[in-house]
Amino acid sequence: MATNILIADQETHFFSDVCKNFDHAAQFTKHDAGLLDQIKSCNSVYRFRFPIRKGNSFEVIDAWRVEHSHHQSPTKGGIRYSEMVNEDEVMALAALMTYKCAIVNVPFGGAKGGIKINPKNYTVSELENITRRYTVELIKKNFIGPSIDVPAPDYGSGEREMSWIADTYATMNPGQLDAMGAVTGKPIALHGIAGRREATGRGVAIATRECVSVGEDMQRIGLLPGLSGKRVIVQGLGNVGYYSAKFLSEMGAIIVGLCEFEGAIYNENGLDIEAVFQHRKATGSILGYAAAIQEFTNTMEGLEQPCDILVPAALENQITEANIRNIQAKIIVEGANGPTSPEAEAIFYANGGIIVPDMFANAGGVTVSYFEWLKNLSHVAFGRMNRRFEENSNLNLVNMVEGITGVALTPVQRSTIIKGASELELVNSGLEDTMIRSYHEIREIYKSNPEIGTLRNAAMVGAINKIAVSYQNLGIWP
Ligand code: NAD
Repeated sequence: MATNILIADQETHFFSDVCKNFDHAAQFTKHDAGLLDQIKSCNSVYRFRFPIRKGNSFEVIDAWRVEHSHHQSPTKGGIRYSEMVNEDEVMALAALMTYKCAIVNVPFGGAKGGIKINPKNYTVSELENITRRYTVELIKKNFIGPSIDVPAPDYGSGEREMSWIADTYATMNPGQLDAMGAVTGKPIALHGIAGRREATGRGVAIATRECVSVGEDMQRIGLLPGLSGKRVIVQGLGNVGYYSAKFLSEMGAIIVGLCEFEGAIYNENGLDIEAVFQHRKATGSILGYAAAIQEFTNTMEGLEQPCDILVPAALENQITEANIRNIQAKIIVEGANGPTSPEAEAIFYANGGIIVPDMFANAGGVTVSYFEWLKNLSHVAFGRMNRRFEENSNLNLVNMVEGITGVALTPVQRSTIIKGASELELVNSGLEDTMIRSYHEIREIYKSNPEIGTLRNAAMVGAINKIAVSYQNLGIWP
């Protein structure tokens, strides 16, 4: 009973939290109140129910698709599979998608979907039925299509579900040349793109690296610049959390703590992400991992252990007034959407911390989804047309330089210089460029308007200004 009340209570918060952030940031812009209202509101909220067969009986599934903003088309956003999904949450996540796309200059409006199930309670065949039926419901109402609304994975869904959606959409739209562009996050064998699976986590790691690279900001919070040796705790060992931890550790940070729903583990000397991941795969839990010095059955205690950087990468509403004062990190990088409440953020900043906000920090996923969509529309893999041409040009250049200087490069040097870019390298380069540029764009707004107060407000101000320009250019018709 108490849990239900808590869930109901959470239901009313997330969208209003996002709107609170919006309203606060909007004060620092000069737009008409009506235009701001248009930007903030969810344009279309589609709530539907459909039956599935479960064993010998029927079950009715609750589902949503919300298109928050049509200032750009198509709209874009993941589909969450969770028994906690509710309308308020899907609206909040759709709104965050709008701001996120604007921040990283991805030309989409924001959207989000939700299916209220715990995937663990269904067989693969039942999950396939649910996903295909969900897709058909979207098709019936024109809520999906490469130029309309393009779903992607989110909490509880992945490449497998995106394959089912792609196949259902293509089957229901025979002959539509761009059908594969109706959904992103597909496996590479089904018109996906190299690097999409790990893109959000890679983006989180790059966002973190950029944040700690600014000497002036690090000095203010009492840290040395650079990722090397920074102690990091990650919450959630799913898609975003696992890859965030992996890339942060590859960039020189030390992952000292990992938190999953069953508990948390800690070792100040560092945890081997891959080994913990394999241990969890084998035993079903991160607890019991031999190299952990401390274990916490109350997973929330894991967030409060000594570290420099905390990466919440599980769910919203994890860092609140109730625990923010116990968080020892100086920097929070939001891998998840909405992990920090506005009240907790105010306290964290007042105590001298920095939060790298979700709508920028986890935008790597949508950035690479954009690349996948472009690939699907152009029907050619990145690098396919120019790779060999580049290699031949580079080879001519190397031969010429060797001829002029009389110095012969080693075979390794030659192949490094000559090699043309693969799709993965191009995707990672586009992602890195996007994250670096966007971070410094946000920081510039933050620095040049001290009264803005937080990086989240700065990111929101930048997003509002870009979206306002789009709406003004579009005009109103009819
Ligand atoms: P996922 O389902 O792959 O992983 C989530 C992980 O969090 C799971 O391992 C789950 O067991 C764990 N978890 C659940 N409750 C927890 C708790 N109380 N404490 C600790 N761990 C808990 O989901 P994901 O795709 O990694 O998404 C995580 C977050 O990142 C969500 O907020 C999602 O909206 C956001 N996000 C995801 C993407 C993406 O590309 N997948 C992109 C942007 C943002």
